[in-house]
Amino acid sequence: MHNMLYPNTQKNKQTFTIGLYRLFASVLLLISCNVFANINNVNKVVNVQQLSQKFNHLITHIKKLKDTNSNAALSKLNTASNYIEKLSIIQQITFYKYQSELYNDLAKFKLSKQSANNGFKIASSLQTPSVLVVALLYNRGFAVESLGDLPSASEDYLTGLDIAQSLNDQQFIAQGLINIGAIYYQTEHYKLSLTVFNDALKIANKLKDEDLQGFINTELGILYAYIGEMDQSLKFYRTAYQHYTNIGKTAYAVNALSNIAVNYQEHNRYEEAIKIYKELIPNIKKMGNSEAFYNLYMGLSWSNLRKKQPNTESAYQYLHIAEQYLPDIERHLAKLNFLIDKSYILKAMQHYDEALDSLFQAEKLIADQDKSTDNFDYLSIIGLKATIYRALGHYEKAYQLYSEYTDGYLEIYKNDRIAAVQDVRIRYESEQAERQRKGLKKQAVLQSLELLKIENSRQQQKLYFLLMALVVVIFAWLLHRLARGQQRLLTSSRLDNLTGLVNRRRLMQLGFKRLKMSQIQQTPFSLLMIDIDHFKKINDQYGHKTGDNVLKQIAVIGGGLLRKKDVFARFGGEEFIVLLPNTNKTQAISSAQRLRESIANKNWDNVNNVTISVGVASVDYKNITRKVNKSQIKAELERLIKVADDLLYQAKAQGRNKVCS
Ligand code: GH3
Ligand code: MG
Ligand code: MG
Repeated sequence: MHNMLYPNTQKNKQTFTIGLYRLFASVLLLISCNVFANINNVNKVVNVQQLSQKFNHLITHIKKLKDTNSNAALSKLNTASNYIEKLSIIQQITFYKYQSELYNDLAKFKLSKQSANNGFKIASSLQTPSVLVVALLYNRGFAVESLGDLPSASEDYLTGLDIAQSLNDQQFIAQGLINIGAIYYQTEHYKLSLTVFNDALKIANKLKDEDLQGFINTELGILYAYIGEMDQSLKFYRTAYQHYTNIGKTAYAVNALSNIAVNYQEHNRYEEAIKIYKELIPNIKKMGNSEAFYNLYMGLSWSNLRKKQPNTESAYQYLHIAEQYLPDIERHLAKLNFLIDKSYILKAMQHYDEALDSLFQAEKLIADQDKSTDNFDYLSIIGLKATIYRALGHYEKAYQLYSEYTDGYLEIYKNDRIAAVQDVRIRYESEQAERQRKGLKKQAVLQSLELLKIENSRQQQKLYFLLMALVVVIFAWLLHRLARGQQRLLTSSRLDNLTGLVNRRRLMQLGFKRLKMSQIQQTPFSLLMIDIDHFKKINDQYGHKTGDNVLKQIAVIGGGLLRKKDVFARFGGEEFIVLLPNTNKTQAISSAQRLRESIANKNWDNVNNVTISVGVASVDYKNITRKVNKSQIKAELERLIKVADDLLYQAKAQGRNKVCS
């Protein structure tokens, strides 16, 4: 009501003021130029006030419209671009916030990035931090993430999260955590991803924010799809769909439905997938989003090819429809993935020459230094080529490619990926056990209450004690069994339970593998040893729990700076080790400095300030041919840890909050 009344009153006042000045103006005009200038100014002020109201109305409208039709919302918003400089700074930033968000919704990532940057230019004149800046950071982060630049995305997300924390804005804190969690699963840090999603979910549930709940459930669905837990993934997508439908965010509900269709497809439930895809066509038409169309038609193509009675002709047609949308798609690796998918479909249709041609084109899109079997896309190409050559009867070539493929596959899957997936599964099972345990406790209490209701006769009292004793014994046994199971699950884990980071034992295994790889590839290798400064004081001053929280936060910050092959591990108490393969001394020092600075500059919630000291050890295996002997590599790893530890000691001696190399 307040908002609706306000503009009218304002308008009347303005008309009155203008009228009054006009009257005087006609008299005074001839007397003084100065007065004329004043009148002009007043007109300007009035004009600005009107525009400002107009803009506020526009935003109210866009907030609603964007949930159902991003395209219409964007055109509407852009009508403000011809008077934007006349608006207040906050309004101008608001404009760019919505613009970059809408470009992201439409998968126009380059424009979104540009729009967010325009917002930052204006925001630089702000005196105090604002959630609008957080929103801009998240929008730009999402845009560059989609364009394939995960490190820059992490940096934006972490900066945004930091500001959100300093403003204590729970909704934006949760959003930041979700964004960071998405980076983690893309870099195969599944457990870290789950840890931050769970933290975000706690906030969302507390706020009862269905928008956030929809967002987290979507991301959890993707995470579980990544690790191959398809049933679990489907459950999350369904929950997301429900939340978005409840609040009328249809564009997002449509997205959740597409995810469900993809999930069916991965489950070999093609008929169900096709049904959903077809239902989605009118909705996606309304959204006018090329990427959504592309995904839809690729899905239809696949499902038609794979279903029980394949319809190869439809599959081929849908493939070509999808291809028409490809030039508009900016998402990282879209073209490469299309060519690989296309070749799969052509191969299944026995169009072998066309399929090979598509693969050769795909190969050209992969940079030379990435043409190794630990690159998943390159590996897929080799595997596909092998099957095509076999089908064509070129057995020798096929055999050669197959063995290359198998070696690469084992390296990627058997070692890291399967281990990581196992860890998430264990974590999930242990959480289930925890939930079950809590449920049982509650049940036990309820049952005892029931028993208390029994009449108080002597006989019944006797019975009551007997039953009570029985209940207690049964539940004690159940609890014990569950707790033991959980303990077993946790100790078999390779990850640290507090921070979600790799633990010491797993660090040594991974260190061995990464070091061996560096020696084989003759690339540099660096190792950081990190220790929190005066951590005992933090515990003494603020309590152990706060100390634990500091450790968790450092894991989040450190994790955000990781590349795919890097390892951030908890070495012990408040000591961490970072493995940096293919990183020379200079690069390692700058990584260490960046980490040190982001921790020192962080606005800590409850703690005054936290600093770390770092020791950096590096070696370069360029032009050094090594005997790849297991005990030698182990000794080398231990030597590097020792060197880094000594340097860490030096950093402490030099006054702490320092990097020594
Ligand atoms: P400095 O390293 O700068 O020399 O000083 P410091 O105070 O950090 O010294 P030190 O390394 O000796 O102390 C480490 C402390 O970390 C001791 C221990 O109580 C605490 N700690 C170890 N593990 C944990 C943990 O999991 N949680 C918490 N809250 N504290 C821990
Ligand atoms: Mg220590
Ligand atoms: Mg310490």
